[in-house]
Amino acid sequence: MPDTRTLLLGFAVLALPGAAVAGERPLRVAAASGAPLAEWSARVDSLLASRQLLVRMTRDDTTFPGRRHERLAQLHLGVPVWGGELARQSDAAGTLTVFGMLYEGIDVATTPKLGRADAAARIAAQGGVPLGRAGGPELVVLPLESGYRLAWRVRAFFERSFDVRQLFLDAATGETLVEWSDLQKQTAALGTGVFGDQKKLSVSPGQGGFTTTDRLRPPLISSYDFRYSVDRLIRFLNSFDPVANLTAADLAVDSDNVWTDGAVVDEHVHAGYTYDYYFTRHGRHGLDNADIPIRSITHAIRREDWVFYTTETVDSFFANAFYLGDGIMYYGDGLPPGVVFFGQHVNYLAGALDIVAHELTHGVTDYSSALIYRNESGALNEAFSDMMGTAVEFSFEPEKADYLVGEDVFTPGGIRSMQNPQAFGDPDHYSIRFTGSGDNGGVHINSGIANNDYYLAIEGGRHRLGATVQGVGGANRAQIERVFYRAFTAFLTPNATFSQARAATIQAARELYGTSGAVETAVTQAWSAVGVN
Ligand SMILES: [Zn+2]
Repeated sequence: MPDTRTLLLGFAVLALPGAAVAGERPLRVAAASGAPLAEWSARVDSLLASRQLLVRMTRDDTTFPGRRHERLAQLHLGVPVWGGELARQSDAAGTLTVFGMLYEGIDVATTPKLGRADAAARIAAQGGVPLGRAGGPELVVLPLESGYRLAWRVRAFFERSFDVRQLFLDAATGETLVEWSDLQKQTAALGTGVFGDQKKLSVSPGQGGFTTTDRLRPPLISSYDFRYSVDRLIRFLNSFDPVANLTAADLAVDSDNVWTDGAVVDEHVHAGYTYDYYFTRHGRHGLDNADIPIRSITHAIRREDWVFYTTETVDSFFANAFYLGDGIMYYGDGLPPGVVFFGQHVNYLAGALDIVAHELTHGVTDYSSALIYRNESGALNEAFSDMMGTAVEFSFEPEKADYLVGEDVFTPGGIRSMQNPQAFGDPDHYSIRFTGSGDNGGVHINSGIANNDYYLAIEGGRHRLGATVQGVGGANRAQIERVFYRAFTAFLTPNATFSQARAATIQAARELYGTSGAVETAVTQAWSAVGVN
């Protein structure tokens, strides 16, 4: 077991263990008042001065003028420590909060025995794809339960497995230390925007008529139509500058500006709605808060061709949507109407507003907390996407909004329930969390715990195991949306745990709505009800 020490809100720092302990030594920090805050305020300054922390990102607070949020990445002798990060909130008077996690007792040398080129060649051989010039591996310190290792890290599309992999090679021996799928998609197990509804589209005159380029909103929002070219998809996934790889020739086109392709209409319109939600509710300027262009892709593989692919590929590229990074979303076309896939029909994924907002929220996470896509941090990453996906749905489709995920395109029933996760086999309590290795350590499974917490904080009620929550009520849902948004984008760091999410949301509730107010009560009771303390 790793030696984990937790610094609780307002509590003193626990003493360091006397003897050296084998394995990673994460030190979790949640300092918001009193002596811990004073200590961490000084300690962060000293770690910055000695270059053990590096300012990765700075943002002004959009709610409280004069406050600012910094993300401080941990370095060991100049090499990034994977997952080590603090989030510091400050104003003119000094530090207000410090959340996050640092690794202690790092004892590795930072000169790799295996060179970068050799590492790239080994990874290329494994993935069946050459790594481009921009995709060379990055040297990192990788914390493992067995100890710290110097490693080459790469995130790349592997044509052999048709998957985007996050992979770490031992920088001494070249062996693979750990790897996982980094396709941030909807579902691991598994399925008419397509609904004939009339929508307004923001488009631009272009080659061949009009193209799906929205120039009205601050960021460029572009929607691409791969016109059922799998070669095009593979060229795109293999490119190491995916943004540059998408060109005007890939934009969806309509000659008379009467748009009838439901998947194209919905990927474009729903991306705009999601942008509007983040701006109006949270004052956020797009995925990176700096109006990075939003790009969506659909029609990569013809539905009818599903019979030629493995179940895994159908699951990833037909019956799924994912966030690829760099502001790029991919939406599968689903399956032909007569096909039942794992008990469901699957329509065009872009047709579901909550799914589009879910994918775009992965971008928001990528540019803020950067929650690592496995184990508890991965489950929090997934849950935050479900929360914001549902919030966007309640904002723009209030008449049919609910706490199901993906119910518009996976029929009957959707793929997850925030109200009753167990209806889909997902846990609604920390005591029954999934502890296996599948689904990246249960990222789409354990998300149910945080999802149920979010539901209870809004709607209140009695949890299946007996605890009662005084929710804020549906009319006040914006309060809980703001609390989770603030906690997840400003306080959580890449390796966050459920327990840290509880502390971070309670802190956000206090800052936004006052200490011991109804919102803090709702958030606290909800986490307790789902067994997170
Ligand atoms: Zn997701």
